[in-house]
Amino acid sequence: MPPEKHQLVYTLTARCRDCHRCLRVCPVNAISIANGQASVKPERCISCGACIRECPQGAKTYRRDIAQARDLIASGAVVAASVAPSFAAAFPDWKGGRFVSALRRLGFAVVAETAVGAYYSAQACAKAAGNGSNICGACPAAVNYIEKYRPELAAQIMPAASPMVAHARLLKTALGQDAKVVFIGPCVAKKSELERQDAAGAVDVALTFEEITEWLGKSGIDIASCEESAFDGLPRGDSRLYPVPGGFLKTAGLGDGFMNPAAISVTGAAEVKDALLSVPPEVAVEPLFCREGCINGPGLKTADGLLKRRASVFSYAAKAQTAKTGGAKTGAAGKFTDDEIRRACAAEFSPRPFKSGVEISEADIQRVLEQTGKGEPEQQLNCGACGYRSCREKAVAVLEGMAVPEMCIPLMRRRAEQRADRIISDSPNGIVVLDSSLSIISANPAFRTLFSCSDDLPGRRLSSVMDSAPFEKVAAGAQESVDSVYRDAPAGIFCKMLIYPLREEGQVIGIFVNMAQHDGGETAGLQRAQTVAQARELLEHQIDMAQHIAMYLGESTAKSEELVKKIIALSEEGKDGLDNTL
Ligand code: SF4
Ligand code: SF4
Ligand code: SF4
Repeated sequence: MPPEKHQLVYTLTARCRDCHRCLRVCPVNAISIANGQASVKPERCISCGACIRECPQGAKTYRRDIAQARDLIASGAVVAASVAPSFAAAFPDWKGGRFVSALRRLGFAVVAETAVGAYYSAQACAKAAGNGSNICGACPAAVNYIEKYRPELAAQIMPAASPMVAHARLLKTALGQDAKVVFIGPCVAKKSELERQDAAGAVDVALTFEEITEWLGKSGIDIASCEESAFDGLPRGDSRLYPVPGGFLKTAGLGDGFMNPAAISVTGAAEVKDALLSVPPEVAVEPLFCREGCINGPGLKTADGLLKRRASVFSYAAKAQTAKTGGAKTGAAGKFTDDEIRRACAAEFSPRPFKSGVEISEADIQRVLEQTGKGEPEQQLNCGACGYRSCREKAVAVLEGMAVPEMCIPLMRRRAEQRADRIISDSPNGIVVLDSSLSIISANPAFRTLFSCSDDLPGRRLSSVMDSAPFEKVAAGAQESVDSVYRDAPAGIFCKMLIYPLREEGQVIGIFVNMAQHDGGETAGLQRAQTVAQARELLEHQIDMAQHIAMYLGESTAKSEELVKKIIALSEEGKDGLDNTL
């Protein structure tokens, strides 16, 4: 078992390709990179599932709890399913009604809607709003975030249990405390909610729609073959809308989250974090960590886009029957009493601040910045390519053991370019780079020596240095490349010459191996060996680097790689090859 696998969110290491995408989307920098693997630090993680949704390799995943739910049913206990209203997005159109029957076939004695609890949870929030609390606590990722990273706001979370917890308590009130409740929804963070002290004993297992689909598949239950059937019990009001932005506020009677400046809905991790920095305490806020709300939860897998998912929830909510008053006791006759509802909605939020435990001084940060060539503020690009918002934040992560300096893409690219520049400048072969009009962009020292030129070559026409006719053919596209001998007897120049274009860049490259020194003896052999060794060193370095920054390799790196390959080929032709061209 991988070391992380006991965690709620973890990495399937064999699949991880070290691309850092999860790192970039994690809103709390809970992912560390070491030895080419991204791993989740549970003490930092808020279980939002953003990394699971975004990992292109399917390497980020979460703990599966199907076996626990199956065991509950096998134990003979009365097991109720509390189904989140986003089921309408996960199982749209004709599948919705049949999904209820499919759950019964799995062995659930009661199949009810979490929206029943959402109604009471929203009413409790409505009562609390304006009395010192203004943040809805329906999204457990938002609650985890506040308690860990904005602990000073914990007291502002409305003291009301989430729809899931409120519903589970109501189910147990109706069915008896020996009954078990399995929540089924789009959310990974709901699994973490089961570990909260103030929610202890309410929900027994939390599954995602993805898990329930796996379970149905393994049990050989095809939704298409199930009959239509209705949920047990009816929710009230607009409570089936809470998975879409503004739905919970609407259920609470606080507007729709958009048109009422006193109550706003915010979705998406960055937006929620930003809102929590700026929303005044008198404004009620409904923070949903998933962009567009729970219909985009990490445990809801569907090919449908967010608009279609939203439409599916609206369509279901518009058609489905609701309770007019009271709220029928699910699975039993009668109504919930005020006291039962109050107990179902009880909640307590408190600060649980995350501390890395690593003492870091300004001098430490400056040292790391300097090691990575960012000692001066103007050198700190703050581009975010490493996954951290600033070079400084990344330096802190390095000191905390969460990151390595090589995650800085501009740094790695600069190092690669410097290495390439050095090897090209040290090459014993003359190298000249020209623009499409054959003006010199750059030339290395060996070229300047070969053609007895000064340092002021850039900007000059090649024709002022040598016969440029073969270059003109390549630049004009009349010839794909040139591989020949260049001879200027009066100047004492005798070279093997290779010319090729870089069409995308609009440039032409010339490489010259000085054959005047070629006596078939040690000089030429040494020169070739030196060239090949240097070029190979660069190539190996480039390939190694490419494994880290493959997607970021820029034009200049690719260009130098092509150039170096040509130098190797040219030099490896060896003595015989050169003689044959003469
Ligand atoms: S996003 Fe990239 S780095 Fe993160 S787990 Fe997936 S493959 Fe690995
Ligand atoms: S679940 Fe969320 S907080 Fe945890 S590692 Fe993934 S993105 Fe970060
Ligand atoms: S927005 Fe919904 S699905 Fe996403 S983390 Fe919050 S509660 Fe879970």
